[in-house]
Amino acid sequence: MSNPASVIESGVNRLMSSVRNFLQTSPKKLLIRGRWVPARSGRTFETVNPATEEVLALVAEGDKADVDEAVKAARQAFEEGKWSKMGPHERTRYLLKIADLIEENADELAELETLDNGKPLSQSRAMDIPKAAETFRYYAGWCTKIYGDTNPSDPSLFNYTLREAVGVCGLIIPWNFPLLMAAWKIAPALACGNTVILKPAEQTPLTALRLGELILEAGLPEGEVNIITGLGPGAGSSIAEHADIDKVAFTGSTDVGKLILHASAANLKRVSLELGGKSPNVVFRDAELEDAVSNGARGVFYNSGQVCTARTRIFAERGIYENFVDKFVKASEKLTVGDPFDPGTKMGPLVSKEQFERVVNYVELGKQEGARVATGGKPLGANKGYFVAPTVFANVDNRMRIAREEIFGPVAAIIPFKDEHDAVLQANDTIYGLAASVWTRDIGRAHRVARAIKAGTVLINCQGGSDVISPMGGYKQSGFGRELGVHSLELYTQVKSVYCKL
Ligand code: NAP
Ligand code: MG
Repeated sequence: MSNPASVIESGVNRLMSSVRNFLQTSPKKLLIRGRWVPARSGRTFETVNPATEEVLALVAEGDKADVDEAVKAARQAFEEGKWSKMGPHERTRYLLKIADLIEENADELAELETLDNGKPLSQSRAMDIPKAAETFRYYAGWCTKIYGDTNPSDPSLFNYTLREAVGVCGLIIPWNFPLLMAAWKIAPALACGNTVILKPAEQTPLTALRLGELILEAGLPEGEVNIITGLGPGAGSSIAEHADIDKVAFTGSTDVGKLILHASAANLKRVSLELGGKSPNVVFRDAELEDAVSNGARGVFYNSGQVCTARTRIFAERGIYENFVDKFVKASEKLTVGDPFDPGTKMGPLVSKEQFERVVNYVELGKQEGARVATGGKPLGANKGYFVAPTVFANVDNRMRIAREEIFGPVAAIIPFKDEHDAVLQANDTIYGLAASVWTRDIGRAHRVARAIKAGTVLINCQGGSDVISPMGGYKQSGFGRELGVHSLELYTQVKSVYCKL
């Protein structure tokens, strides 16, 4: 690997000067108590551009000692109450200010996101960054709408409830939508009056660090938002175990989610988990086929398949199965894979070498299991970058490992089904339950299937991202707790019942 400075020279002259400056102030530091500080150990790690395999920057590798410091800062800030006891109208103004700053710096954030994660710049610009701003704006509105109740208790008593902040919150996030995942957790946590410690994924720390700068610029009290970059075992596990953290919100893999839950037992901290998925997309023979195909391809290949709600198990009714596979293959082959900075690119590389190897191994496994590679099935690109072709497996059986395990890459498995009953049985035959889609012109069937599928989100005849107004979360091993909408307020508040003798 070359050193960061030379990469920026050679790398990408087309970058905005503010992005170059940001990368050049390397190593990046931790945000604790309103100040940027190196890791106490002095250690750093590299963050890499997955399209070129070049090092973008060195980043402080925080661990237990740094988490301890951040928790002290967050605890002190919470108890002092500059934020937690601030009037809600004022809190609203700060959150709106953060949203404004994200928008003012949107081009820079989009370039950073694309460099660090590999997603097409057009998608960072259209989706990740504006949605992050929208999330702060949405939760800014909630600060003034967090109510308690008055309760019909004995007439000699006045009983009411208060909805109060939980306290110090540890927020651990993945690399697939780095800034947006940070926003989904920080914005509601702040709206409810908590203090936070964010641990971004090691593959994609850059936009979270830039967000930290914007949060300081917005003028939040020091210690309110702390950011500890570092590794899972180390920074992440220290947050999960910490005796003075009141709540952990985690998004990531089901395996790590189980570790978080274990670690939380020590002090019984509140836990919410948004975990993996293997979401079904059920296409009936009466579906609007062109729509089902084009949206189905988007549903599995968007973000190179690195989406927790990716519809990777596609069930097509017998009778249309072969036709559906043919059309789906054609749609997949039309996707332009390549340089994420090229406006024509629809799919960039996978986020890391590990992810690339994982996906390539699953493709080999699919072949061994007897599924047919209808298209793709191989790495792309000369010898740089973690690119994999959109891959479609046909003749898949729902019992194969490629249909049961989360691949988190651009790999679709198309499975035939007999009738509605069979479709629901197969769709539910999974340990996961994050999302599902159904395509049919029969409105009754659409809603029957939506009810029958065990998943936190069901889309009927459409495809798309999630909206911050609506809950998101999992059934079964896809986790528990619902994020977004009013539901995030449940995660970041607790209820107190007060009795007063009249
Ligand atoms: P991951 O390995 O579980 O990592 C998620 C986060 O947890 C990262 O910040 C990671 O740090 C940290 N971590 C790792 N080991 C830890 C430990 N022992 N204790 C505490 N923290 C630890 O997941 P990923 O590979 O980044 O992301 C892909 C997975 O996330 C997929 O399974 C996907 O389905 C899921 N996901 C779910 C949702 C949802 O909303 N349900 C959204 C996005 C992704 P490091 O980066 O240093 O490893
Ligand atoms: Mg990176």
